[in-house]
Amino acid sequence: MADIWIMRIGHRPQRDKRVTTHVALSSRALGAKGIYVDTKDDVLEENIRSVVDRFGGDYTIHTGVKWQDATKDFNGKVVHLTMYGQRIDEALPKIPKDENIMIIIGAEKVPPEVYERADFNVSVGNQPHSEIAALAIFMDRFTEGKALYADREGGKMTVIPNERGKTVVSKNSE
Ligand code: SAM
Repeated sequence: MADIWIMRIGHRPQRDKRVTTHVALSSRALGAKGIYVDTKDDVLEENIRSVVDRFGGDYTIHTGVKWQDATKDFNGKVVHLTMYGQRIDEALPKIPKDENIMIIIGAEKVPPEVYERADFNVSVGNQPHSEIAALAIFMDRFTEGKALYADREGGKMTVIPNERGKTVVSKNSE
C-alpha cells in the first residue's frame, strides 16, 4: 500500500479546532502518513505530535500549507471527497493502489479549482454529512480495513484489545 496524505482546507483555528483534531487522529488511526492544514495552527500541531509521541508511528503534521503548494509536486493521485462527486463504489476500482494518494477534505465551501485539480472527486453518499465520517469511510474501504490494528513503531504505550476493561502496556517498563 502506498502512502496516504490528507489535505485539510478551510481550517479556522477557533471554530474547527475539534473537528480538525479529529480529522488528523482518525486519519492517523486509519493509516495516513500525515496531514497538511492550510491555516497555521501551533496548538493543533502540538496536540497531534503529543499523541504520536505517546502512541507511536511516524504521522506528521504541517500547518500553514496551501492546498496549491501541497498538491503541486505531489507524486501520486489527488482524491477530493465531496458529496457532489462520483460514487465511492464506482471510484475505488479506478484509484491506483500502488501510487500515493492525497485526500482533500473541506470545512466550508470548497473552491471550484479543487474540483479541477483533483484526479478523482469522490462522494461517500450524496447527502451532506461530515469530513470525519467521509474520510473514515473512504480510508477504511481504500485500505480494506487493514490499517486499524496495524502495529506502530515507537511511542510510550500500547493498548491491548480487551473485551471488558482497559489494558495498556507501557513500553518504558518492558
Ligand atoms: N458545504 C460545503 C461544500 O459545499 O463544499 C461542504 C461542507 S462539509 C461539512 C465539509 C467537508 O465534508 C466537505 O468539504 C467534504 O470534504 C466532506 N463531506 C461532507 N459530506 C460528504 C459526502 N457525502 N461525501 C464526501 N465528502 C463529504
